[in-house]
Amino acid sequence: MDRRKFIKTISVGALATSASMVVAKDASAARKIKWKMVTTWPKNFPGLGTGANNLARLINEMSGGRMKVKVYGANELVPPFEIFDAVSQGTAQMGHGASYYWKGKSEAAQFFSAVPFGLNAQEMNAWLYHGGGMQLWEETYKPFGLIPTAAGNTGVQMAGWFNREINTVSDLKGLKMRIPGLGGEVLKRAGGTPVSLPGGEIFTSLQSGAIDATEWVGPYNDLAFGLYKVAKYYYYPGWHEPGTTLECFINQKAFAALPADLQVIVKQACRVANQDMLAEYTTRNNTALDTLVNKHNVQLKKLPDDVLKKLKTLSDEVVSDIASKDAMSKKVYESFVQFRDQVELWHDISERAYLNARA
Ligand code: CA
Repeated sequence: MDRRKFIKTISVGALATSASMVVAKDASAARKIKWKMVTTWPKNFPGLGTGANNLARLINEMSGGRMKVKVYGANELVPPFEIFDAVSQGTAQMGHGASYYWKGKSEAAQFFSAVPFGLNAQEMNAWLYHGGGMQLWEETYKPFGLIPTAAGNTGVQMAGWFNREINTVSDLKGLKMRIPGLGGEVLKRAGGTPVSLPGGEIFTSLQSGAIDATEWVGPYNDLAFGLYKVAKYYYYPGWHEPGTTLECFINQKAFAALPADLQVIVKQACRVANQDMLAEYTTRNNTALDTLVNKHNVQLKKLPDDVLKKLKTLSDEVVSDIASKDAMSKKVYESFVQFRDQVELWHDISERAYLNARA
């Protein structure tokens, strides 16, 4: 090969290489997978909405930009309580919410978010990831063409904000309280009146006296809502939501169409988001509580032991009633209760013993 011919050959080769690179780049841009994530949370709502944003960012980054997930707040694409159907039907590929909202679809779904006197965050993750809980959750959502994942946890919530002192079980009688789900059913059996209100109406309802009390989440979110301005007492512990798991469910067909590595990335991103939200709540609840008590002079109170004992008895009845609704609920209930009873023995001599010793 003479020199001129050689130069010509390599420059043609170089051209061909750069041309094929352009083609490859275009093809990868065309192959970029764009997903929509619909949520039950107001856009950018602290902790929960930002948790959904965090998950989308993780998927975008971990996939090296091959996947792009766009987050839609409540009502941006569909109303908050229609996200389950929207993802089931493929209007969006992912949904971020809490499984107790889907009680109307499946009674069993309630076990995967929060159960009164149920599992705390650490125990929920243990049950889901290593105790058979996740397989049961998958079985529960399968008829809807959905794959569930745990994608956040608030940790133990607070019992709530009260304008009446709760000294005995009889103080629960006639109590009008905003408390959704199973906790609300327990309050009803204790003689109270559970009220269901969206987050945005809590403040004014408490201010006007339309309700006597409300639960929301914990110091981080409750401080943001300004609830200390309209209630005298802040009670603990959050017996009704001891470690609420937030979820991300995925349209099964959309998931199956992903390459294997992106499937792993989506699932692992959910797992990272799940852990990260708990860490964020633990940190921010702690500083927000300090602000509430020391800056806003909030009166912090523990629910009396006999009140908690009564609530626990009623909760056990409410939860075991779910088991009688259908076969799936029975199966999930049995797994959940068996795990709780086992882990309780271990946590008695580990977590509880340690926390008592440290105190
Ligand atoms: Ca709550």
